[in-house]
Amino acid sequence: MPELPEVETMRRIVEQELVGQVAETIDLRLPKLTRTSPLPDLGVLVGRRLLAARRRAKVLVVDWEGNLSWLAHFKLAGQLAVERADGTRRVAGHPVPNPVGPYPHKTTHLIVRFVGGTTLYHSDLRQFGWLRLMPSDAVAAALAAFAFGPEGVGPEAITVAELAARLARRRIPVKLALLDQGLVAGLGNIYVDEALHRAGLHPTRAANELDGEDLPRLHEAIAWALARGTEQGGATIVHNRAYPRDGFPQVHARVGEPCPTCATPIVKTRVGARGTYLCPLCQPEGKRDW
Ligand SMILES: [Zn+2]
Repeated sequence: MPELPEVETMRRIVEQELVGQVAETIDLRLPKLTRTSPLPDLGVLVGRRLLAARRRAKVLVVDWEGNLSWLAHFKLAGQLAVERADGTRRVAGHPVPNPVGPYPHKTTHLIVRFVGGTTLYHSDLRQFGWLRLMPSDAVAAALAAFAFGPEGVGPEAITVAELAARLARRRIPVKLALLDQGLVAGLGNIYVDEALHRAGLHPTRAANELDGEDLPRLHEAIAWALARGTEQGGATIVHNRAYPRDGFPQVHARVGEPCPTCATPIVKTRVGARGTYLCPLCQPEGKRDW
């Protein structure tokens, strides 16, 4: 968290609220946010117009006038908020700072004020995220260096055949294979749990032993989970509990709550080091007899 749906929600907020706006002041309060930036002085953006917002995997790309772009990764606890001149806000990502509380928050590390009064707040409770400013014509190579796999949803999405070929090479639990950003990009702990539940697959099933019935179901379930998460503007997990209580995610962070398919209580286990939620009836450890 933030995973692909949360970052895609951030992208939409930037696109809808900030494209065409001119930066008036830039206040970087945590210099290490740009510690790996090829151009560490964000002040060069003052007076420039924001042109576009793009996304690849969980990386947000913001393009500015003058052949400048920044890449941002929000890692475990990043949040992006845009406050309009009238004080209304749109927020995506981690639930800290409280979207309805005072901004800037002590975890807010970058504040960009735009001419006309709109403000962008970049916050990061855990400080693992980064922001890199570079020439726009360097972005393609910078993204390529991550070696991301195909997207899980959208026009460039992975095909069933590609998914099958990639999983066939991995003799590890399917959950861990799907968390690998080089296999399919953008899935994290939340959406892998949702996809495996929808596909009726136990997270410890070996990735290379899924068969011709499992694979199309899993492929559909990955796209469904990412699209469903994006549709609601990302997930909200507070103290390991999912909110809203009646919505999505359906199984992740819902231990003890009824499975939406069969009403069996959701259980929590660990796969690798990752907290993992599943329905023991819908997702049996062995091969399910469909
Ligand atoms: Zn169930």
